[in-house]
Amino acid sequence: MATAQLTTSRYNAGLQCLRRLWLLVHEPQEHMGSAASSLAAASHEVGRHARKLFPGGVLVAEEPWQHAEAVARTAALMADAAIPAIFRAAFAYGDVCVRVDVLERRGAGWGLRRVKSSARIKDHDLHDVALQAHVLAQAGVIVSSTEVLHVNNAYVHGVGEVDWPAYFARVDVGGAVESRRAGIPAQLLEMHACLRLDSLPSVEPGGHCRKPHRCEFWERCTADKPADWVRHLPHLSAARAADLKAVGVEAISAIPATFPLTPKQAIVRDATASGQPCVSPDLARRLHGFGPPTCYLDFEAMAPPIPLYAGTRPYQALPFQWSLHAVDASGTLHHREFLAASDEDPRRRFTETLIAALGALAGPIVVYSPYERTQLKALAGSFPEFRPAIEAILARLLDLLPVVRDGVYHPRFGFANSIKSVAPALCPGFGYGDLDGIAEGAAASTGFLQMAMGTVSHPEQVARLRAALLAYCQRDTLATVEVHRALVRLAANRATGPG
Ligand code: SF4
Repeated sequence: MATAQLTTSRYNAGLQCLRRLWLLVHEPQEHMGSAASSLAAASHEVGRHARKLFPGGVLVAEEPWQHAEAVARTAALMADAAIPAIFRAAFAYGDVCVRVDVLERRGAGWGLRRVKSSARIKDHDLHDVALQAHVLAQAGVIVSSTEVLHVNNAYVHGVGEVDWPAYFARVDVGGAVESRRAGIPAQLLEMHACLRLDSLPSVEPGGHCRKPHRCEFWERCTADKPADWVRHLPHLSAARAADLKAVGVEAISAIPATFPLTPKQAIVRDATASGQPCVSPDLARRLHGFGPPTCYLDFEAMAPPIPLYAGTRPYQALPFQWSLHAVDASGTLHHREFLAASDEDPRRRFTETLIAALGALAGPIVVYSPYERTQLKALAGSFPEFRPAIEAILARLLDLLPVVRDGVYHPRFGFANSIKSVAPALCPGFGYGDLDGIAEGAAASTGFLQMAMGTVSHPEQVARLRAALLAYCQRDTLATVEVHRALVRLAANRATGPG
C-alpha cells in the first residue's frame, strides 16, 4: 500500500488515535453530522473575516486536491515582495502537506498565523501549529513569529460593521509551539507506518475516543461490545476500568457485588442486572414542592459566532423561544409558547412575554437542567428593568434533573439522564422520533440562527422551520410533564410496594 499523505487534520487525528487516522484515510466517512457541518461553516466564516486584518493579502485559491499547484502558487507569491500576506499558503515536505491560514511577510522572515473559530486556544491547536512550523522549517521558510488568532469573546459588538481587530485575539504561541516540535519527527514516522498497514490497526476504545474530539468511528469500534459495556458506567475512572478489564469483566451486569463502586454506579449495576428500575426510598421526599399546580419550562437559544446585534458578544447565548406547559390544581394541562421574529435581537420580546405568561400562573416552575436558570440570570444582567420580575421567576425554579439523577435509575435510560433518554424510558410510547426536521437542541439553535442570518429566507422554508421549532420545544416541556408524572407514580409504588 502506498503511503498516504498527512495533513494537519490527519496529524491531529493520529495524535488522538492511530486507528482513527487509518480509518479517516482508508475508509473515510462520506457525510459529517449537522453539528459538525455547522461548526465547519462557522470556522470557514471566521477564517474569511480574519483575512481583513491583513490588507493586501492574496488567497491561494487552489483546492486541497491541487496541492502541488498550490505550493507553486505560494512560492510565486512569496517571491513577490509587494505581497504582504498569503492566505492558505501551501507547503509540502516529505509526505506531509499543510495549508497555513495566513503567512505574513515580516522583513526577511515570515509570521505563521493560525486562525481558530473557538474562544480560547486548546492544547491540540498548538500541536497543529507545531506541525505547520515544522513543515515550514523543513521547507526552508524562516518563521520569525507564530500566532494564533482566536475569537475574543469579551468583544462587545457596537452598531454597524464588526470591529474585526477587536473581534480577534492575537496570541503569540512561539514558545508553546517550539516545545511541541521535538516530538514531531517520531510522531510522523509512527503515523506513516500506521498508514502503510494493509489492515485496520487494533486499538481498544476508551477515554481517548472523546478527547479532544468525539471520534466519528465510536459506533464502529464498539459494535462488538455488550449493550451494557462497562465503559457506559457513569464516572468510571480509568483505574477502575483497568481493574475490571484485568478480571475479564466487560458487562455492567457482570460486575461482582464485591467490586468497589460509587452508590450511583452500584444502582446502575443492580438495575441493569435485574432489568428492574431502582427507586430511591426518599423519592417522594425529593418530589416535595413540585406541585401541582406546576409550570414546566424550556428555552431554546442560539449562540452566533459573529455577533448579529449591538451589545452582544461572540458565542453569547441569545434565547429566542420558550415553551410552557402548566398543570393547574385540578390536573388540567395547558400550553403556551413564544418564538421570536428572526429579524431582531430576540431577547427583549422573549423576556417580556415570559414574564407575562408566568405572572399569570401559580406554582413552582419546573425545568430539566440548570440551563434555564443560567439564561434567566444573563437576561437579568442585560435588562436591569426586568431584574425584579426575573428574580421572582428564579425564586420559583425547581430542577427535576437532580431528582432523576439521584432518585431513580431505569435500565432503559441507556446510562444517561438527559430528558431524551429518561422520558421514553419512564413513559412508554413517548418519544421524539415523529418530529419533522428538528429533534434536538443543536438543530434548533442552528435553524433559528440560519433565519436570523438570512441564510434561510424563503417563506416556505421559514414557515416549515418555525413549525418544526415550535413542535420540538413543546415536546421538551411535555417530556418534563410526563417524567414528573412517572416519578410521582414510582414514588407512590415505592411507598405501597414490598419495599
Ligand atoms: S473510536 Fe476510539 S479506538 Fe476507535 S478509532 Fe476512534 S478513537 Fe480510535
